[in-house]
Amino acid sequence: MAALDGNVARVLARLQTIPGDPRTGASRAAVEAAATAFLNPGSPGDHNQALMELGALVCLPRAPRCEACPLAGACLARASGRPEAFPRSRPRKASVSVRLAAGVARRRKRLVLVEDAFLVPGHLVVPLLEVAAGDDAGQALAAAWPRLAGRPVARVEFAATVRHAVLERRYAVEVFEVTEAPVASTAPGRRVTPGAGPRLLLPEELAGVPRGGLMRKILALSAPDPDPERSSRPAPARRGPAPPKRSGG
Ligand code: SF4
Repeated sequence: MAALDGNVARVLARLQTIPGDPRTGASRAAVEAAATAFLNPGSPGDHNQALMELGALVCLPRAPRCEACPLAGACLARASGRPEAFPRSRPRKASVSVRLAAGVARRRKRLVLVEDAFLVPGHLVVPLLEVAAGDDAGQALAAAWPRLAGRPVARVEFAATVRHAVLERRYAVEVFEVTEAPVASTAPGRRVTPGAGPRLLLPEELAGVPRGGLMRKILALSAPDPDPERSSRPAPARRGPAPPKRSGG
């Protein structure tokens, strides 16, 4: 029986210039038929092994080494002059740009964290807010802070913009230092249980909680990540001189 992994499919698609994506539909059927027709019935195991190795070592996806290929004389893709054009690569999804504002706030040295609603559900992250194009991210964050973190805001101050990508989503995150207004009814330093509001954690407590790459980039702006193996201080893209401090509303 003819083996047909991705490397073999690529070789066969090139040998016969089979159009389309060999993983699906009519192209898949054509590649399967070619694999069966091409199989050496006298030594199928050696044949499959040789074809897989050819795909892995010679008929490389982006830069096939046709000059070293024993099948070069029979290869239609090579004869076309553009062997790398076969098979057709899967179309990439268009990237989506997302603008976020992030607020770094502390209550008696404890970071204010919430459950991530944007990137990895279940992870902890500083409060995030999606911001529409043209809106002032700082003002939008200050206005939303009581809903996000349960307290009014005294001041937001721009720190830096960090960039982060997850699959096709490209995040531009404007990070602000947030100074919260005091609330008399909340005991200072009280730890709030998950689901009842934000989590308040000391920096050294962060090592034990799940947090993603964006969170580490944001925290590296103000303090090293407490987990040294995962710590990396990014080079934030500053938006020119830091804007003047402004009061939130
Ligand atoms: S000649 Fe080039 S494109 Fe054709 S099978 Fe060999 S390495 Fe692949």
